[in-house]
Amino acid sequence: MKVKKRGSKIGKFRKVPGPIGKQCLERAEQALSKTTADSYVVIAGGQGTKIFDADGNEYLCFDSGVCVANLGYGKNQRPVWQAIEKIKKAGAPLYIGTDRINPQSVQAAELMKKITPIREGHDARVYFDTKGTLAVETAIKALSKAKSRQGIPPKKMIFCYCTGSFHGRTLSALTIMDKRNPHRITGYSLPYRYIELRFPTKNRRRGFISRLEKLSKSNKLNRIAGFFIEVVQGEGGINPADKTAIQALDQWCQKHNIPLVFDEIQSGFGRTGTFWAYEQYGIKPDMVVFGKGAGGGVVPIAGVVMRDDLSFRQMGEHSGTFGPDPILTAALTKTVQVTLEKQLAKRARKMGQYFISRLREVFGSKIWLKEIRGQGLMIGMEFWNPENKKPFPEFRDALWYKAEELGLLAFPAGFDGANPILRFEPPLTVTKKEIRKAIQILYQAANLI
Ligand code: PLP
Repeated sequence: MKVKKRGSKIGKFRKVPGPIGKQCLERAEQALSKTTADSYVVIAGGQGTKIFDADGNEYLCFDSGVCVANLGYGKNQRPVWQAIEKIKKAGAPLYIGTDRINPQSVQAAELMKKITPIREGHDARVYFDTKGTLAVETAIKALSKAKSRQGIPPKKMIFCYCTGSFHGRTLSALTIMDKRNPHRITGYSLPYRYIELRFPTKNRRRGFISRLEKLSKSNKLNRIAGFFIEVVQGEGGINPADKTAIQALDQWCQKHNIPLVFDEIQSGFGRTGTFWAYEQYGIKPDMVVFGKGAGGGVVPIAGVVMRDDLSFRQMGEHSGTFGPDPILTAALTKTVQVTLEKQLAKRARKMGQYFISRLREVFGSKIWLKEIRGQGLMIGMEFWNPENKKPFPEFRDALWYKAEELGLLAFPAGFDGANPILRFEPPLTVTKKEIRKAIQILYQAANLI
């Protein structure tokens, strides 16, 4: 594909897609299966927070490829590329599969154990995957195996999850997805049962805690194999959980010996202001699932850090071709090191606070704005129709596409009929100047609607 050298600068209107992009989208329509791609921007390059499309237009990338390029693009990713180069230069294989151990995977697992505090009194084990949803499958399978060891058959086991949840798109992960999500599929036969609880935002704390109390008295308790939750929901609409509710959940899980699983696939790796979002809740879970930004935007790596007694025991109980390969795990180790050395979590906290306060200053009085909320650099704007105070996804979509035409890439979240959100999750290296520019574009875009 040809890439035009020069297009529109950030803040200047461009027609999206441009001619080269349009041609690529037409070919994509014929060649690729349908996914979640609903933007007209065809990506061709990137540097720092900037992205270039196939027609040479510049954008501020305020989605990081959905929290993948946490380090930013181009030169920012060089340390991760260099870690991979080092293996290549040494003549070691980049991929060697799971059946033989390699030093890079051991180093990465040791590092993940060190930086991921789990339940007191337990050692941890790490399993590597290549996609978030596969790591969720792994967690479900490990929990199911652990529950079987207690003599509970799969068809009696229960998994708990919350409304607004999103844990992936493979079959098991879909079963612990919010029932309202149109992409959830039903009718296939996993043996388990499920309990959906309302996600505990601040004003739902009491309801959540009383639901836990009710469950304490039910005869289902000893059949619960695990409780999955994102402490800051991404796809569900940028919803930070209430601290007291999460602490109550933790107590409840401990009391009834129910494994608590935090899905940090979107919120992890510094995005919310601490390396893991759950660190802000003062508790330690039994399992942590990670992915997305773990490979520095250079390689796909995901995985699970789990309590050793919940981990797999027998040879062949669980495995996969890709995961603990040298190239993937070396990239993971370097990404963690860069995130820690550059204090990107702290930076995300500071930049997030700045971003939210500027957004509130500029848009706080707009009649179509319902709320601005977030944690660190996971930020969302929610819209309602000023006439009837009902969700206003049409406005969100118009703003989203108009902002793209002016050079700002953000993306939607939430449910159209409940909480339509425009989501901002820029690289953690984003600057105040870039944040101001993004807000200026958003303002321009809103005035054009
Ligand atoms: N869990 C959460 C919280 C996510 O945000 C996502 C992806 O958006 C997933 C799981 C699934 O990850 P993947 O798309 O890598 O399968």
